[in-house]
Amino acid sequence: MLLPELKTAYSELIGMPSISSVNPELNLSNRPVVERLANWFADAGFKTEILPVAGRPDQVNLVARIGPVDQADGLVLSGHTDTVPCNPELWQSDPFTLTERDGRWYGLGSADMKGFFALILEALRGIDVGQLQRPLTVLATADEESGMDGAKSLVSAGLELGSYAVIGEPTSLVPVRMHKGILMERIRLLGQSGHSSDPGLGSNALEGMHAVISALLALRNELQARHQHAGFSVPVPTMNFGHICGGDNPNRICGDCELALDLRSLPGMDIPELREQLRQTARQAISERDLKIEFDTLFDGVPAVETAADARLVQYCQQLSGQTAEAVAYCTEAPFLQRMGLETVVFGPGSINQAHQPDEYMDLGQIDPAVGMLRQLVQNFCIADLHS
Ligand SMILES: [Zn+2]
Repeated sequence: MLLPELKTAYSELIGMPSISSVNPELNLSNRPVVERLANWFADAGFKTEILPVAGRPDQVNLVARIGPVDQADGLVLSGHTDTVPCNPELWQSDPFTLTERDGRWYGLGSADMKGFFALILEALRGIDVGQLQRPLTVLATADEESGMDGAKSLVSAGLELGSYAVIGEPTSLVPVRMHKGILMERIRLLGQSGHSSDPGLGSNALEGMHAVISALLALRNELQARHQHAGFSVPVPTMNFGHICGGDNPNRICGDCELALDLRSLPGMDIPELREQLRQTARQAISERDLKIEFDTLFDGVPAVETAADARLVQYCQQLSGQTAEAVAYCTEAPFLQRMGLETVVFGPGSINQAHQPDEYMDLGQIDPAVGMLRQLVQNFCIADLHS
């Protein structure tokens, strides 16, 4: 195998900017990263396929597979190739140059999570791929940090890649088996402005929004009464009113008002259903008023995810790490991989506390254990006799 040294591979990945953003001015293609990965994994003997992302001509996913790929079982190691945007002026060193300092590798994507692919390559050095009894698949996705378009596109493609998936997001090598889901929505009320001295001269959107908020608070109470999960530090679904604006002058009837909110769901709650419930509640609240209502989907949503505590992959990752699987407060591609029929755990080196921050780094102390755990995962799920 002509694979690059770990630090070389790591540096090259950090050196290829692959920022994804809902702001088109910041958004970059992830193709250079995916093509580099495809070359490396091809050199390692993998069959590689670069797949288009529906509706996103500049974005691609990589599926690289090795072993008896016609078999249904097998392990998927998955990560995203994009990073969040950064503010280079707040960094101590260039975010796109892997820089070693104080036992750490600094760089954008060092923990979250381009470095993970370099660790997989490193782990492969210790694995005899000729021994694989079940396929090993490496998934490298696009757009995780923005709309998760890459993962959504994989689900639509209906790929069958195996039975188990580990997503190497930075969890400090503690297995994560659940997180909440999220959706974001904006509600706009359009009334009629007029002189404040006579309410009959207009239709007050702000008063309408007051009714909408009251109704949504009632919906929130109802959701929280119906859904609880002790595995989460905030054990109920939440609804946050994050932004409101409307009207202009105290002596004018408020002609328009808008409210932006997020809703964080528990496993088992359906995102499209929740959005519909939200909209229905808002519509009903103003049905007697002379107001127009509009909705904007600010974030389509990511479902919550839960992999059973006694699932084989959860149990194995707990055994590997010596840590009990937990819940986290951020979203991942796990629900999409789960839809592809994969039992999924989020489990990777580096800390989420460094992700999305200036001076993001990978603690070098995490690297050897991570490489060792990756080798054991492949050994256990792709080589060892599963039923022994
Ligand atoms: Zn990430």
